[in-house]
Amino acid sequence: MHFDPAEALSREELDRLQVTRLREIMARAARSPFYARKFAEAGIGPDDITTPADIRKLPVTTKQDLRESYPYGLLTVPVPELVRLHASSGTTGSPTAVFYTRQDIETWASLMARCMHMCGVRPSDVFQNMSGYGLFTGGLGIHYGAERLGCLTIPAGAGNSRRQVKLIKDFGVSVVHIIPSYALHFADFLLSEGIEPASLPIRIALIGAEPHTEETRRRIEGLYGCKAYNSYGLSEMNGPGVAFECTEQRGMHLWEDAYIAEIVDPETMEPTPEGEIGELVMTTLTREGMPILRYRTRDLTRFLPGPCACGRAHRRIDRIAGRSDDMLIIKGVNIYPMQVEQILMGMPEVGSNYLIELTRDGHMDQFTVKVEITEEFFVEDMRSLNALRGRVQAKLRDELLITPRVELVQHGSLPVSEGKAKRVSDLRPKE
Ligand code: ADP
Ligand code: ZN
Repeated sequence: MHFDPAEALSREELDRLQVTRLREIMARAARSPFYARKFAEAGIGPDDITTPADIRKLPVTTKQDLRESYPYGLLTVPVPELVRLHASSGTTGSPTAVFYTRQDIETWASLMARCMHMCGVRPSDVFQNMSGYGLFTGGLGIHYGAERLGCLTIPAGAGNSRRQVKLIKDFGVSVVHIIPSYALHFADFLLSEGIEPASLPIRIALIGAEPHTEETRRRIEGLYGCKAYNSYGLSEMNGPGVAFECTEQRGMHLWEDAYIAEIVDPETMEPTPEGEIGELVMTTLTREGMPILRYRTRDLTRFLPGPCACGRAHRRIDRIAGRSDDMLIIKGVNIYPMQVEQILMGMPEVGSNYLIELTRDGHMDQFTVKVEITEEFFVEDMRSLNALRGRVQAKLRDELLITPRVELVQHGSLPVSEGKAKRVSDLRPKE
């Protein structure tokens, strides 16, 4: 029933394995100039680890550390032993590079295959990867996982919707990997071509790489008549395959034989009480070429309490609520773009795209939400449009506690990205 016996490890077995592997990876990491220095400064070594919680004795690693050690400062092997490079998409500043040995590629592919198998993908499926390839890990990372599992794998890449449909129809594609914002856009495209998305043979969609809400998932499932599973990863931890939903769809199992996850208060770095949201801090346990220990992901989530009905002991994290650096402060109120998305995607009249625009009016920040409405609704008269605008505004006000300006715009008029969606456009003058 499991793709990998590691899925069946008990809590005690996982704890023991984590201690052994943490000690091993520390010894290995100490070969890199970066960790050699960090460990020396902290006066710490593998012998200081006897329980998984001892990981808190280690110093953290930040994005800034990776930038400063760019390109090769974290390597534990000579460059000729590496076979692959990826880079983060640079959503939040200059990119950072990560490196893989042949064994790392193999480990990563197995983790990814395990995820796909867990949510029901089988070798008999035809799989189309509709995310960008190139430096982005969602391309080759998922690709190798699908091949490892044994699926016929179509490297379609991002965009070019017309070709995507043709491939899906010609080859009877049953599973896709697609970024959620593109999944919504692609459905619009299909409908505009007179194709009912649910008429396609897709039965499973793997969605991830960007924050999205439960409402968005339900929309995607409804449109395509498929199951959609959340996929979480980041290039610093290989890429996709770090945490994934099982068929219960209640949180993502984080593979604790390969990673140690902590969730901490970003201010104090103390572990958050169980069930409370904090910053995810991640450690690679099995990476050879470039181990990264206690990496501050800046992603906000929580551990879901209790066991999962599927029986796996690997702990589950909740869907990512956003990044700590996504938070907007408007008129003194903290707002996350996902709060806006949750409201909008729960309203059937609202179309598939939206944009938060920040401007400055004198000294006052202005917060505008531009909302695409569905084609059917756009033909409505002025009065019902105004009423809808009022409803959107009231719902947003109840959630955010401030009243945004709301503009309804024609469906298809807001910018669409082929990669991760850009939800906030900050037009305020730089200080
Ligand atoms: P970048 O940090 O430049 O976007 P990556 O391509 O490595 O680089 O993207 C990793 C990030 O993408 C994660 O840290 C997280 O913020 C986001 N991400 C990935 N998967 C998900 C997901 N399922 N839900 C929400 N956010 C996600
Ligand atoms: Zn489960």
